[in-house]
Amino acid sequence: MRAEIISVGTELLLGQIVDTNAAYLGQQLAELGIDVFFKQTVGDNPARVRGAVRLALSRADVVLITGGLGPTEDDLTVASVAEELNLPLEPHAEIAERIRQFFEVRGRVPTETVYKQALIPTGARAIPNSRGTAPGVHIDQDGRELFIMPGVPFEMYGMMESYVIPRLRERTGGVVIRSRVLRVTGEGESTVEARIKNLIGGTSPTIAPYAKLGEVHLRVTAKGTPSDVAAQLDAGEAGLRERLGEMIYGTNEESLELVVGRLLGERAATLAVAESCTGGLVAKRLTDIPGSSAYFLEGVVAYSNEAKRDQLGVPATSIEQHGAVSAEVAEAMARGIRDRAGSTYGLSVTGVAGPTGGTTAKPVGLVFLGLATAERTEHRRVNFGTEAGRSGIRWLAAQAALNLLRLHIQRS
Ligand code: ATP
Ligand code: MG
Repeated sequence: MRAEIISVGTELLLGQIVDTNAAYLGQQLAELGIDVFFKQTVGDNPARVRGAVRLALSRADVVLITGGLGPTEDDLTVASVAEELNLPLEPHAEIAERIRQFFEVRGRVPTETVYKQALIPTGARAIPNSRGTAPGVHIDQDGRELFIMPGVPFEMYGMMESYVIPRLRERTGGVVIRSRVLRVTGEGESTVEARIKNLIGGTSPTIAPYAKLGEVHLRVTAKGTPSDVAAQLDAGEAGLRERLGEMIYGTNEESLELVVGRLLGERAATLAVAESCTGGLVAKRLTDIPGSSAYFLEGVVAYSNEAKRDQLGVPATSIEQHGAVSAEVAEAMARGIRDRAGSTYGLSVTGVAGPTGGTTAKPVGLVFLGLATAERTEHRRVNFGTEAGRSGIRWLAAQAALNLLRLHIQRS
């Protein structure tokens, strides 16, 4: 089954409002397993609305239209569709009564134009509007269905949920499309793709990688009955986990900081961070998570050598001998912040975010991470290169630091 979306409104064409209705409808139709090949946006103009409807009906089984349903002069969607389909408008007594009541309850007197909304094409059904006055219109023309809904998003959502979606679900025989995203970090897209090569290109479920900064999202999508789809998604996820193992850190909307926080919480462990080139980004990301006070104790942004020495107890000789961006300093920072906070873990970042300040030995993009535990202190050296730019390098450094801690906790 194919559906087409038509958004009516000159303000949409002028860019004064963003077409969030079409985005919502697209998502809903996708979940119903209904294909959408086209969407149209058209201004408040009867001839052009008619043209859009004609085109949509030539290539879709279901047409969802929003906008231009109100009582004013420029609200001409229903009349235009009725004309295109050769269906005269008829007053609908029940709707007229509902409009009268809507105004009475609010102590207002309706103008005559309001009753324009009670005009429905012959043979069409009114879709109740529990959130406003303009009813929607449902036209069934020999199996081709049109649903006309208000432009006001809140009213349109109500009609979709209570009327249109149940109706479409009947037509599709309960087929749905669902996806699940597995989030991978620590390896680049090419490595991830190489590992899951034989899974990409499958049809049920389909698996598609999306590269993001510092991570790869693998979207598993399945189509079928709800129980079918659940089984397909589980199988797809199992296949990916088998090949990628601990590279997968989370699913769907779970961020790395959320997962790290959850791991700390589960173990009643605490964390303190010492940051140089990330300037507090690691602490910021961790504390973006509600409830992080249960495990996040403190963060120090130690930017200068003096701050590293005075705030974190990094030996001046380490900085002199190895430089501020070095394995020795990263480890000393992690130990220092852990001692200072009395936390289970101390995590540190020091690196060259650029664009200036790089040398041959310490190029832009070079980052050292430190992790201190009760037993030992370790470091990791990473070179992110210069392509991501300063803010990108900082993000990647924070990502790598969080991932270092995640892997340590998961393995121990
Ligand atoms: P009303 O009864 O308020 O006139 P209507 O059905 O005639 O409703 P429009 O006049 O087209 O709808 O739009 C009303 C408001 O709804 C717009 O000003 C805008 O805020 C919002 N709206 C309309 N179309 C869209 C859309 N496609 N995406 C997001 N918002 C929209
Ligand atoms: Mg309007």
